[in-house]
Amino acid sequence: MNTSHPIAENSIGSPTLEQHVTGPHWELPSISNATTYWRCTSCNRESIREEDLYRPTFHTADCEVHEC
Ligand SMILES: [Zn+2]
Repeated sequence: MNTSHPIAENSIGSPTLEQHVTGPHWELPSISNATTYWRCTSCNRESIREEDLYRPTFHTADCEVHEC
């Protein structure tokens, strides 16, 4: 009798690109034309355009988004 159970590996634990994209963050209040920006929590690169964060070429070579 085989009592082993399959291990659920498709749950949490695998990083995705969206998990690294944080925002929108607000620019400093001292900036008159304040706008928002997005940041990657893995390589800390920032952009005022969210779509930039979803381009693999936007991130550094060792950024974790390449492992998604
Ligand atoms: Zn990144």
